[in-house]
Amino acid sequence: MNPGDPFSIKSSEWPERDLVRVQASAIHGTGAFAKGPIPRGTRIIEYKGQRCRKADLPAAVERGERQLTYVLNLDEELAIDGAVAGNEARFLNHSCAPNCEVIIFDGAPHLYALQDILEGAELTFDYQLQSPTGHRLSRALSRELFPCHCGAPACRGTLVAPPRRPARATPRRSAPSYSPQR
Ligand SMILES: [Zn+2]
Repeated sequence: MNPGDPFSIKSSEWPERDLVRVQASAIHGTGAFAKGPIPRGTRIIEYKGQRCRKADLPAAVERGERQLTYVLNLDEELAIDGAVAGNEARFLNHSCAPNCEVIIFDGAPHLYALQDILEGAELTFDYQLQSPTGHRLSRALSRELFPCHCGAPACRGTLVAPPRRPARATPRRSAPSYSPQR
């Protein structure tokens, strides 16, 4: 272990939930940033919020009881709404070239570092927006309704999930040993 290398610190030595700072973002509104260097594979923060059934979302939105801004899909049936009882994790912005991903750990979604992250870097994940009904938007409509301005060279221009998603590791993986798809 090289004491001069911040990435040689084991993730287990990092205090839970003290890795994230919330501040204004150049990508969009408010963002979440690394308080210090975060090594690849680190479990950064739980995505907290109120659990809800995805099937109930459209009606709840229509009644004005819920917005979809901070809703994260968990599986086929459940979503979690970070707007209710959420934490800093809800402020992570989308990027088409993200440095974090969501993995279910102990039954709850957590943000994990996909790469070594420098102090002060904005934390992002790929929202891969999907309609609750499974209806797929055209590429043009995706870009019009949910435009992306992440600035990544490989930006696909929208927050909507790409038509052909790469094979993914199961979201229920509990170990932070996932290798990013290339
Ligand atoms: Zn983008």
